[in-house]
Amino acid sequence: MDDLSELDRKNIWHPFTALQGANDPVLITSARGVYLHTSDGRKILDAISSWWVNLHGHANPQIAKAIGEQAAELEHVIFAGFTHKPAIKLSENLLSILPDNQKKIFFSDNGSTAVEVALKIAFQYWHNQNIKKQAVIALKGAYHGDTFGSMSVGDRGLFTKPFSPYLFQTSFVDFPERGRGEDVIRQFKELISQNNVAAFIFEPLVQAAAGMRIYSPGVLDELISYAQEHQVVCIADEVFTGFGRTGKYFACEHLVHQPDIMALSKGITGGFLPLGVTSCSSKIIGAFDFPQLEKTFFHGHSYTANPLACAAANASFELLTQPLCQSRIDRITRLHADFAASLNGNEKVLQVRTLGTILAIELVTPEETAYGNPLRQKIYTYFLKKNILLRPLGNVIYVLPPYVISDEELHHVYEAIEGFVGTL
Ligand code: PMP
Repeated sequence: MDDLSELDRKNIWHPFTALQGANDPVLITSARGVYLHTSDGRKILDAISSWWVNLHGHANPQIAKAIGEQAAELEHVIFAGFTHKPAIKLSENLLSILPDNQKKIFFSDNGSTAVEVALKIAFQYWHNQNIKKQAVIALKGAYHGDTFGSMSVGDRGLFTKPFSPYLFQTSFVDFPERGRGEDVIRQFKELISQNNVAAFIFEPLVQAAAGMRIYSPGVLDELISYAQEHQVVCIADEVFTGFGRTGKYFACEHLVHQPDIMALSKGITGGFLPLGVTSCSSKIIGAFDFPQLEKTFFHGHSYTANPLACAAANASFELLTQPLCQSRIDRITRLHADFAASLNGNEKVLQVRTLGTILAIELVTPEETAYGNPLRQKIYTYFLKKNILLRPLGNVIYVLPPYVISDEELHHVYEAIEGFVGTL
C-alpha cells in the first residue's frame, strides 16, 4: 500500500485536487453494491454514487457479465462507415424512454463531450440554414462540463478563471429561485428580443454542481416554450439528472414542453464505462438531412459508441426499466422527503432540498456559500472517518446514492448527518 501511495503521489495528477496539501487518495481494491473496499480493509459507503454515475451498485454482476461477453466478441470498431448491434440496440432503448420528440442518437464519450456535441449541432443547425445567430443563453450557476464549449456556457468562477479569455460569450439570466420566476422570464424575453439567440442551454430542474439547487418546472416550461416560439434551440443537459435521479427517467418528463436537443452521460452505463449521448428532434435533424459535405456534422471521437460501453448501457437499461428499480427510486424519494422534513426548522440548516433520489442540505455558515467554503473539507473528512463518502459542494451536503441502497444504509447516512449537524 505504501509503495502504491508513493507511486500515486509521484506519477498521478488527480482531478479537482491541489498538487500540494491534499490528503493521500484512498486506495480502493474492489467494490460491491454501495460499498468501496479499501486496501486497509475498510468498507466505505458510497453515498454520492462515485460522482453521480452509479445506479445499480458497484460491480453489478449483470452489467459486468454483459461487458465481459461483449469484450469476447467485439471490443471496438471505428464508428464512421461501420456499426454494431450494441449501439443499434442502445439507440432503440434510449429512444423508447426519451421524450417522444427525440429521434436520433449521436454518441460520444463523456458528459462534457455530449454537451459540446449539443452546442455544435445547435450552432450548425443555424449555419446550415444560412441564418446568422450566435448568442447563447444559460442560467447563472450553470455547470455543463470542463471542455471549452461547456465551460463557456457555464457560470464563471474559480474553475474557469484561468481560461476566461478563451471562452465564448454567453448571456446568463438569474437562477429562477422560488418567487423570482417572473423576473427571470422577463430577463429571458429581453435577451431573445435581440433576435440573435441561437440556443438556450439548461440543467433541467436541478443545478447539480451549483449545490443541488432545485427550481420549478413551471418556469422552465415557460422559458422553453417562449424560446421555441422565437426560434431558439433548447438544449437540456441531463448528464446529471438522467436515468432516474429526479424520480423519473429524465427530468424533462416533469415538463410539458420538450427540448430540441438532450445531452446524456454519467448513469447511462450504470457507472461502469464512459459514454456520452446527444439526442435530437426531427426539427434539428432536418437541417442536416442532405448529402453535401458542407451540411455534414464533422465531429467524432475515436471511441464513439464503444461496444463495451454500449453493452454496459444496455444491461443498465434492462435493470433501470424493471419495476424493482422504480420501486427503489420511489423508496429513496420517500425516505429523503421524510428526513428532509425532520430537518426543517433546524437552526443550523439554511435549507433542505429534495427531488427524487437527490437530497441536499445547505448548512448555515458565516462564510460565503460557495465551493471554497471551509466547511467543505471539514464535512468530507468527518464522514470519511465514519466510512461514508459524502463530497459536499461547499456548505451543501448532498446524498445521491446508488438505487440499491437499503433502508438501513440510508438511515445510517442520515444519522451520521444529524450527528454532524449537531457538532456545528
Ligand atoms: N453536465 C452536467 C450537468 C454535469 O453535472 C456534468 C458533470 N458533473 C457534466 C455536464 C460533465 O460531465 P463529465 O464530467 O462526464 O464530462
